[in-house]
Amino acid sequence: MFDTILIANRGEIACRVIETARVLGVTTVAVYSDADAAARHVALADRAVHIGGPAPKDSYLRGDAIIAAARASGAQGIHPGYGFLSENPVFVEAVEAAGLTFIGPSAKAIRAMGLKDAAKALMEEAGVPVVPGYHGADQDPELLAREAEAIGYPVLIKAVAGGGGKGMRLVEAPGGFAEALESAQGEAQTSFGNPAVLIEKYVQKPRHIEVQVFGDGTHAVHLFERDCSLQRRHQKVIEEAPAPGMTEEMRTAMGDAAVRAAEAIGYSGAGTVEFIVDGSDGLRPDRFWFMEMNTRLQVEHPVTEEITGVDLVEWQLRVASGEALPARQEDLTITGHSVEARIYAEDVPAGFLPSTGTISHLKFADGARVDTGVRAGDTISPWYDPMIAKLTIHGPTRGAALRSMERALGWTEIAGTVTNVSFLKALVAEPGFVAGDVDTGLVGRELDTLAPAPVACPKARSIAALAALGLWDGAAGVTDAGFTLWAPLLRSVLLEHRGEEFAVKVAAAGAERFEVDLGEVQTVVTCHDGLWWVDDTKVLARTVRDGDDLTVFWGNGYPFRVIDPLARAEGAGASSDVIEAPMPGLVKALYAEAGQAVKAGDRLAVLEAMKMEHGLLAARDGVVAEVLCKAGDQVEAGAPLVRLEEDPD
Ligand code: ADP
Ligand code: ADP
Ligand code: MG
Repeated sequence: MFDTILIANRGEIACRVIETARVLGVTTVAVYSDADAAARHVALADRAVHIGGPAPKDSYLRGDAIIAAARASGAQGIHPGYGFLSENPVFVEAVEAAGLTFIGPSAKAIRAMGLKDAAKALMEEAGVPVVPGYHGADQDPELLAREAEAIGYPVLIKAVAGGGGKGMRLVEAPGGFAEALESAQGEAQTSFGNPAVLIEKYVQKPRHIEVQVFGDGTHAVHLFERDCSLQRRHQKVIEEAPAPGMTEEMRTAMGDAAVRAAEAIGYSGAGTVEFIVDGSDGLRPDRFWFMEMNTRLQVEHPVTEEITGVDLVEWQLRVASGEALPARQEDLTITGHSVEARIYAEDVPAGFLPSTGTISHLKFADGARVDTGVRAGDTISPWYDPMIAKLTIHGPTRGAALRSMERALGWTEIAGTVTNVSFLKALVAEPGFVAGDVDTGLVGRELDTLAPAPVACPKARSIAALAALGLWDGAAGVTDAGFTLWAPLLRSVLLEHRGEEFAVKVAAAGAERFEVDLGEVQTVVTCHDGLWWVDDTKVLARTVRDGDDLTVFWGNGYPFRVIDPLARAEGAGASSDVIEAPMPGLVKALYAEAGQAVKAGDRLAVLEAMKMEHGLLAARDGVVAEVLCKAGDQVEAGAPLVRLEEDPD
């Protein structure tokens, strides 16, 4: 076993590798960019080496700097994680030339699978079924169009150097071919520096089912399948193992094909053989085809670990350090069912737009496996993938696992950035998915019902109002929160939720009872023995406040903004002739009298409310027509205090 390894990666996968290395007594060295100096993976590792600027090309893609860091820190091996340099054969060769071990397959195996066209040709030779199509070298557009015609529409154009769904275009009919080809080639050139494409039959009711393999350079075993059919933009969001509806016959056929693929290239370490499956008539052993092999540990490896009890990173370290394959095929079995959900900082209704932000609050449900690279206070920066965490559930059955996942997502608390959590929660409860009727088009078809961010109901709004007044967290903190110190037992608060502004009046009726007036709806919030109720619903909600941002976590995370009406009164209202009390309070002082000329911004009155004094300013130049209150008056929200003469303009 290695004494020390360096992890050439960041984020959750670097943390994941460090955790297993620690269990095995292996010392870990992290590398980091300027953007990651305080990152979780740096904090977890035994040592850390700075390797450059925030852009990947200046740090995590700098093979030379990473190898130098490994040598300087006494590491014998380099674990590449996924992404970055993990599938770069030139890097593997450089690592080996430096006398270090690359914890992964050989450069030769990576090259064999590096380009989709060559890989397909190789797999055909090895007797692995490949998707019918054209993967020749001749890239003449007219030839490609004829090939597409021969394959039969719909067809898929794919960049041979592609990955991450880039350079891929679905073409439904001949008329759209030329344009799709041009845009696929353009994207392929920009993303991979290689415009070559292949053409495939577009499989009907496609399901993405992949097989986890593990080799020692000669022999390989498989660790069963994962279903990754729930995708957006050709990118996986939910993965599970085993695949719904899988039969023993199909599993054996796919497992054997995957092992053949791995052994054909002398594969060493963890890898994944991806297949596309025609699911239009159940799962049938003659209806799966090789798509590509990912020559590394995969993002969704936890679901395989959960059903097999194998730690794949441990296997990687053991095999790379010269040990034999840790298990024979017949030793491997499936227990229960596992699901993984990828939590991203992304705006789902805006088309899954990646987002950034500083995570002000982060808390996960008990009972779920959490793989994450961030903590509260960390920033999702524009430099890297916006994944926040992977949530993995293991249950006795698929139904139980999906229900636990729904619950775990409901208890996930993330504030400070938009996330896809409510989308994921809706997705794991989507009836088609729950019934096991999955295909890669499901997310797209159901998007209209899955994407909208949930809107807070009156109960959730009542909670927000109490929280905004400092009355919710800390349980029955009525006196603490100063309610009884206040002359009026009525307080009001102005909130904004998803672009809608609304006012709430909260009246304390007894020590632990609040009457909440939301305008059209009223609720009664009570607290008994530290348990909160809204009307007759017991509410286990939590609230988090960060400046004006307030989030109510109750089944979903509902974002609110607390509006300070006084701050607004000072600045806004330019069109108004009347200066109103923005909230209930005490008129502390008046600086206006009838007939007086005032200028915009002059202080006309001082209102004492919420333990603070707030100046009420003239919104425009003008002449005071009348003063409608006197110092010492207790006024309601909205009460007119000073009226200006009508503007002659
Ligand atoms: P990448 O390298 O970008 O991951 P893949 O070849 O693995 O590209 O394909 C990505 C996704 O595109 C698959 O998971 C599947 O959803 C879809 N896909 C790929 N090939 C086909 C096909 N022939 N028919 C239908 N869908 C496909
Ligand atoms: P659990 O039921 O999972 O133990 P909670 O009671 O804290 O946990 O929250 C989830 C439950 O709360 C949901 O099943 C749902 O019935 C209820 N809930 C969550 N949000 C709302 C809401 N906005 N309006 C009404 N009920 C809600
Ligand atoms: Mg793929």
